[in-house]
Amino acid sequence: MNPSAADTARQRPTVAVLGTGIMGSGMARSLLRAGLDVRAWNRTQAKAAPLAADGATVTVTAEEAVRGADVVLAMLRDGPAVAAALTAASPGLHTGQVLLQSSTVGPDATDDLVRRAADLGLIYLDAPVSGTKQPAEQGKLTVFVSGPSAVRETVEPVLDAVGEHTVWVAEVPGAASRLKLVVNTWVINLVNSVAECLNLAEGLEIDPRTFLDAMRGGPLDSPYLQGKAAAVLTGDLTPSFTLSTALKDARLILAAAGSSGVRLDLVAASADRFVRAEAAGHGGEDMIATFYAGRAPGKDGG
Ligand code: NAP
Repeated sequence: MNPSAADTARQRPTVAVLGTGIMGSGMARSLLRAGLDVRAWNRTQAKAAPLAADGATVTVTAEEAVRGADVVLAMLRDGPAVAAALTAASPGLHTGQVLLQSSTVGPDATDDLVRRAADLGLIYLDAPVSGTKQPAEQGKLTVFVSGPSAVRETVEPVLDAVGEHTVWVAEVPGAASRLKLVVNTWVINLVNSVAECLNLAEGLEIDPRTFLDAMRGGPLDSPYLQGKAAAVLTGDLTPSFTLSTALKDARLILAAAGSSGVRLDLVAASADRFVRAEAAGHGGEDMIATFYAGRAPGKDGG
């Protein structure tokens, strides 16, 4: 790369976004708004196609998306999905490219992906995000990063576009993914707590709105409680984080806790609720559909 091309890459890196689901689409739009060149690829092409209207180059293959890109941003479901995308992209990858791995994959898959990336000559940044659909669309995520800070300058324009806050956790990949599991333990327990309060209110014939009013503005209230409860009460379960993705994360948390000798009763119970709700057909809805895992028999709508 000649010096001026290197300067351009630092200031305005070309980004290949692999995975344009709920999060990847929003992040791609935030990158485009920041003026970066974006190539977008998704396994189901129809989900990437709308990004063309926003200025992205939508590619048919992962290989085309990554060819010549400075940064490869992976925002896929899980470790196996990232591994599959990397394999498909491999003929287009080049040594020294940065892999900004933002999917929630857990520590074991991170180790596997770090090895794969090293074999492909990529520089791996373990970069999971906190925040959901709207923050992704608004460029207001928090990004946890672990990996070599030597590539900080290259990725900063990308991190600044997708997030309002970057936490550099460590120089070696893995710590950011472990932190992400701690954060999601909080979220998963919280959403199931909201659901159980609504279940119990319904079972005890307390109008859930009375419960929400009793909490409103007090020290135990939270926007999360009010927002998730409102989704159930209005019946709008459009996902910002699907229940089946939350179940995937609960399983990652339990596996990581198990291998470190930690016992997590609440996440285990939350996973059971997610399993029941998914079996009842709610996997594609927002994770607050865990509400349907605890309803008293005879209540309809589940
Ligand atoms: P999503 O809407 O379900 O998107 C998942 C993406 O993964 C889609 O692009 C999907 O492609 C792709 N995919 C799944 N399996 C694949 C495979 N075997 N090969 C290639 N592509 C595959 O999920 P999301 O909510 O955007 O989440 C993406 C990642 O971000 C997950 O790791 C999630 O845990 C994490 N995350 C989500 C949130 C949130 O609030 N939603 C927040 C933080 C982190 P198809 O379209 O072809 O199925």
